[in-house]
Amino acid sequence: MALEQVREWIARSNDIVGFSGAGVSTESGIPDFRSPNGYWSRNRVVNFDEFVNDLEARIEYWRQKAEHWPSVREAEPNPTHHAFVELHRRNKLRAMITQNIDGLHQKAGLPPEKVLEVHGTTVDAACLTCGDRISSDEACERVEQGELAPECRKCGGLLKPATISFGQAMPRDVLEQAELAARRCELFLAAGSSLVVYPAALLPAFAKESGAKLVIVNREPTPLDGIADAVLRGELGQILPRLVEARDASRVASGPGA
Ligand SMILES: [Zn+2]
Repeated sequence: MALEQVREWIARSNDIVGFSGAGVSTESGIPDFRSPNGYWSRNRVVNFDEFVNDLEARIEYWRQKAEHWPSVREAEPNPTHHAFVELHRRNKLRAMITQNIDGLHQKAGLPPEKVLEVHGTTVDAACLTCGDRISSDEACERVEQGELAPECRKCGGLLKPATISFGQAMPRDVLEQAELAARRCELFLAAGSSLVVYPAALLPAFAKESGAKLVIVNREPTPLDGIADAVLRGELGQILPRLVEARDASRVASGPGA
């Protein structure tokens, strides 16, 4: 069966790139902001241009941030996050590319330098002028104390959650690292992403055309299922831990019962 096959590939591979989407976070209780019943259907979307140019839009953005930050801060990593940490612990994980902004891969134990956050992170706020960062705890506390659109204390620039807003460019260095990792890995393991929006729609294809095996784990079908070497459907938290269960590669190689 596919799961056994993928488990064997993982046992034999020493260069895996993980990719995670919203489905990984929802199993930690973090809603998919872009889903039909998600956050953006109930709250005004403040795009990047508005944030920069309009004080009232900045105030609204920070009001929303202060409202939902506690639920993100309290969220805990789930078995899928821990499965990727297990791959790292066994020296198999080259990089963890994620569309998620909640910092749960790091909270689970992945080293920050291994996590490529293509949509940024909500764990920090960054100054748009000098790049200085403060924690979201500190920023939201300042909002609650009446600084409705907090500014950088170093340079007076605009502070913004370090996520990539609608209309804001994605971090080029992160995308470059993600593409390089995808093109050099032996196995690309995508979990919980519908693989529709850039760069999620392209990175698995880069990996595949560079000779890697492509494995997709998701609840729903994705447009890339057709080029995948294996597709596993179901609850991520049930599937991922079984994929990374430690097995002795030589026993796998010599077949059942060996
Ligand atoms: Zn600044």
